[in-house]
Amino acid sequence: MTGIGNELRSAVRGRVVAMGEDGFEQARMPWNVAVAQQPVAVVEVADVDDAAAVVRYAGRAGLAVSTQTTGHGASTAADGTILVKTRALQGVQIDARARTARIGAGMPWLDVLGAAAERGLTGAVGSSDVVGVAGYTLGGGLGWFARSHGYAANTVRAFEVITADGARTRVSADSEPDLFWALRGGGGDFALVTELELELFEADSLSGGRMLWPSEQAEAVLSAFRRATLEAPEGLSIWYTVIQFPPFPQLPELLRGRAMVAIDVLAQGAVTSPLRWFEEVPGLVLDTRRPLLPTEIGSICMEPTAPTPARIRGELLTDLAPETAAALLDAVAPGGTPAPLALAQLRHLGGAITRPAPDAGCAGGISEPYLLSLLGPIPTPELAAVVAARQDAVTAALRPHLSGRKPLTYLDSGESVAAAFDPETLTRLQQIKSKYDPAATFRSSYPVANAAAG
Ligand SMILES: Cc1cc2nc3c(=O)[nH]c(=O)nc-3n(C[C@H](O)[C@H](O)[C@H](O)COP(=O)(O)OP(=O)(O)OC[C@H]3O[C@@H](n4cnc5c(N)ncnc54)[C@H](O)[C@@H]3O)c2cc1C
Repeated sequence: MTGIGNELRSAVRGRVVAMGEDGFEQARMPWNVAVAQQPVAVVEVADVDDAAAVVRYAGRAGLAVSTQTTGHGASTAADGTILVKTRALQGVQIDARARTARIGAGMPWLDVLGAAAERGLTGAVGSSDVVGVAGYTLGGGLGWFARSHGYAANTVRAFEVITADGARTRVSADSEPDLFWALRGGGGDFALVTELELELFEADSLSGGRMLWPSEQAEAVLSAFRRATLEAPEGLSIWYTVIQFPPFPQLPELLRGRAMVAIDVLAQGAVTSPLRWFEEVPGLVLDTRRPLLPTEIGSICMEPTAPTPARIRGELLTDLAPETAAALLDAVAPGGTPAPLALAQLRHLGGAITRPAPDAGCAGGISEPYLLSLLGPIPTPELAAVVAARQDAVTAALRPHLSGRKPLTYLDSGESVAAAFDPETLTRLQQIKSKYDPAATFRSSYPVANAAAG
């Protein structure tokens, strides 16, 4: 592949490593190191001109381009593509009066939260602030503010993109509205995004943190979660997680190797009275709740920040009646541990995410009241089958209570984008793909082109 390497090197200023060249194994690695993506070359673009040059080169060479910020959402769809890494597309400009941020496509949430917090503002971040703003938002982005502000994608005012012909274009409600609709939830299949302009919102009076009990209390905590979420106002987000902590020596003894149950909370203002249900659960071993700085939101769940091998399965739950809760607990933590999964998490949805505006992007909204995610670490390839078997068993046990639809950012490598959209939405996305990228120069982690409606 040195031919491609040399041709790309003559086209761009950034670092190019082609398959077979020194450094390729390192360069192709995504954050989720369990995904063995095999691009033909990796280009760490130096700037927007470089990104446009790669797209033009790919068009001439008949190759596809996949784009990654961090590789949190990597999939094997990147096989055979030129993988563009955008980390050099930096920059955050906050307009405090307009309450917007212009964000380079290489930025992780952490830097955006920091810049916004200086002006008393925040954005629609998810559970981890090392996730990239671009991939998260293009896939919809379901985070701590979903109940009060909906999908992150629907906070986008505009994108700066490179289209399949290599041209730089601004995409907004007034300029290329079809593309604007598709980019707000349809993933990276339509253009290479170089900058996003997002709405921000007030970040005052935030509080939250994690409560932790031994997993023996999993049932009592789930019962309290059910009650608390039934009465939670939209400014209060509550997530329930059964966790198997690894036996790593760097973990505090309290957690090391133990199965626990966590309640993670973010409150906007004085909306915490539903949390009284958790006071009745005995055995609390940790409570980190406190007034929160916006920069602390992404660490509430204590998720790993270093590259991690994992498989995640997301499902939307249609109810959490007492029988559903009992079936869920039997399925996710038989014997008191979610192992071989590390986490089984239930996020309370509802609120603004159920009410997308008429001009929302293709992510739309979610009517299901809870999101279930099952995350298993796979430090060795053999464990992939073990983790997948447990994920299959849990979803089979809960089948009558799952809608079958899932948010795009909760698809796992090998799943189809068709699971994220109804057939009409998928058809419209495919039409927009044909219009803007007829030669399929862009290939996202979950391509729309050949996805068959489910
Ligand atoms: C620890 C962890 C926590 C998570 N928490 C949440 C959460 O709370 N809520 C949620 O909704 N999701 C969550 N996710 C899923 C995450 O949002 C997706 O994996 C998302 O795609 C990550 O974006 P990224 O840019 O970091 O990843 P990448 O893997 O770099 O990008 C993912 C995909 O986005 C597209 N893309 C990225 N950048 C561009 C660009 N500049 N132009 C065009 N296309 C692009 C590409 O198709 C790419 O394959 C989490 C994932 C992990 C691993």
